Amino acid sequence: MSVGTAPAGGPRVPGEGVPWEGLPVCVAGVGVSGRAAARVLAGLGAAVTAVDVRDDDATRAEAARLEGDRVTVQLGAGAAGSPPAGTELVVTSPGWRPTSPLLLEAERLGVPVWGEVELAWRLRPGGPDAAPWLAVTGTNGKTTTVGMLAAILRAAGLRASEAGNIGTPLVEVVRADPAPDVLAVELSSFQLHWSSSLRALAAVCLNVAPDHLDWHGGLDAYAADKAKVYAGVVRACVYPVDQARCEAMVREADVAEGAVAVGVTLGAPAAGQLGVVEGLLLDRAFGEDRHRSAVELAGVEDVRPAGTHNVGNALAAAALARAAGVPAEAVSAGLRAYVPGGHRISQVAVVRGVAYVDDSKATNGHAAAASLTAYPSVVWVAGGLAKGATFDDVVRQAAPRLRAAVLLGSDRALLAEALARHAPDVPVVEVAVTDTGAMDEVVHRAAALARPGDTVLLAPACASMDMFADYAARGEAFAAAVRRLDAAGTA
Ligand code: ADP
Repeated sequence: MSVGTAPAGGPRVPGEGVPWEGLPVCVAGVGVSGRAAARVLAGLGAAVTAVDVRDDDATRAEAARLEGDRVTVQLGAGAAGSPPAGTELVVTSPGWRPTSPLLLEAERLGVPVWGEVELAWRLRPGGPDAAPWLAVTGTNGKTTTVGMLAAILRAAGLRASEAGNIGTPLVEVVRADPAPDVLAVELSSFQLHWSSSLRALAAVCLNVAPDHLDWHGGLDAYAADKAKVYAGVVRACVYPVDQARCEAMVREADVAEGAVAVGVTLGAPAAGQLGVVEGLLLDRAFGEDRHRSAVELAGVEDVRPAGTHNVGNALAAAALARAAGVPAEAVSAGLRAYVPGGHRISQVAVVRGVAYVDDSKATNGHAAAASLTAYPSVVWVAGGLAKGATFDDVVRQAAPRLRAAVLLGSDRALLAEALARHAPDVPVVEVAVTDTGAMDEVVHRAAALARPGDTVLLAPACASMDMFADYAARGEAFAAAVRRLDAAGTA
């Protein structure tokens, strides 16, 4: 890590010397964060034009509401080609690719482009009272880690808000009344791409695995955006010691003077790390006597959902909280209070000795590999939209645990091919049905292949949109099919 200098301010930075009042701002995208940004900016007196390529009934209804809040809205492909003449700032939604015509044109014209996160950072109330940000990024585990972190902060008696990639937009959270004491912020690579000045009190990048490469244009560009989470960190850059890419990001980060690097490990922690010994989560980074002894934080049994990757997430959350000065006791209390989000390794039922687990949120191979390691003998339910990914790694890692695989969705052949290459003895069933009955067929086929003691695990390694509205709908379809299987057996 090296100590950075303050970023050089450009000559015309909105909000810094350039008043918001009357400033022509273009908000690209009228999704949740775009609408929030547009309203906040209009409230500051800026002349806001919000644009979106979508022009359906739902978008028009949102547009009408925005216009009631003094935002001009332009919809349709024609509106999204370039910023309106005279625009001095573009605030973009995370879904917009950097190659979108409007963003390219803004760049060409020298108009600054911020994400909603950058806007929120710049609009947060200043001075010593500004709530610090604890930032979490990574390909997988962000929501879980932020949830654990917020629970730990609350257990310490702090008014903590969770925000960012999920839930309430940051522009609203930073200006909430009463103001939060501290923010647990989930940042996607898209949001980091459009951020330049945010300086977290402490930050973690949990992991980097291939995902969203179509948006970023490649793994290196994706990782470079994730690395921005460590820029200017004030107190602690947290990284998992087994993630070489994350460790390198910390090494190369420009941080504030006095910031430390804190490793988290599933093994025994060295001085300066958090880790695990005999079922206990230990801190050797923030305790007074860290060179000689460890501070006990929690037991592994306090961590839910199960799975070693969640122990890693809990250690990362604990490290961020400890960096914010939270006492050790709050870590175990917070982890016990944490309620895991749905469709993340949630057990649906045990039917005739077989556990059925819904990890529909495992939407890439890296996440699926992590959840497969939590079970010794698995009938793996996988498939959907591959998003350009390949599955050799996950299949190679999972092969020894697989009783069988049941594949669904449009890219199931990619999984079948990887299974044939790396797990040729594992029985594979492909379900070609894509209508509402598909999950019943999947669950019946899985039940027929499972033996008592096995787990039928929905960890699709793929996105869901080929067959379902989203990952939650896929998980619910699976759970409903399991319940029908259970009812049929007991009828
Ligand atoms: P995100 O918000 O980054 O999508 P979630 O916490 O919602 O992450 O978890 C998404 C999926 O990733 C879950 O299915 C979970 O099993 C898996 N997962 C969670 N944490 C990790 C981790 N540290 N490493 C790998 N996979 C993980």
